[in-house]
Amino acid sequence: MQLNTVFILLGTNLGNREANLRDAITKITELCIHKPIKSSVYETLPIGFDSDLKFLNQVISIVTSLDPFELLEKLLEIELLLGRERQGKGYSSRTIDLDIVYFNSDIIQSETLTVPHPRLHLRRFTMVPMVEIAPDFIHPVLGLSQTRILSQLEDKNEVRNYDITDHPKD
Ligand code: AMP
Repeated sequence: MQLNTVFILLGTNLGNREANLRDAITKITELCIHKPIKSSVYETLPIGFDSDLKFLNQVISIVTSLDPFELLEKLLEIELLLGRERQGKGYSSRTIDLDIVYFNSDIIQSETLTVPHPRLHLRRFTMVPMVEIAPDFIHPVLGLSQTRILSQLEDKNEVRNYDITDHPKD
């Protein structure tokens, strides 16, 4: 059985955001060999569309025997299960968004799946949690560590540590 190490970015800005993260991680854990390694939770402003609703973002690292396409299908099922409604093309508010950031050091370019994710390495909301849990992991296309990518980022949007205990009702 092949074991794959995968980094997944979670994002949510609708409904009970903490519960959305928790429920998604519970469902993802069912697909894993070990318990996921989790970054802290971060609060970030929406990028690419207008909304007052801030996002919570978190990165988890999992080990799974699923192949990339099986995993993507399962993640889309979890998004649907947690009530995400797709609102056409482009960015919009969402209950939960699950993106595959890295799948081992594989490079995949297909109609339905691009890995490493083509944009997430440009975003501070991905790279701050990535550096927290895997600072030395090398981006297989860029050949740079997560720490190095973060240090070179042009995206200066604030990524604030979100202490769950400060928000009992969120
Ligand atoms: P979004 O609306 O941003 O959640 O886009 C979801 C769609 O992006 C999925 O249906 C996938 O087919 C496609 N996709 C391409 N690459 C990735 C990736 N690395 N992780 C997740 N979805 C991806």
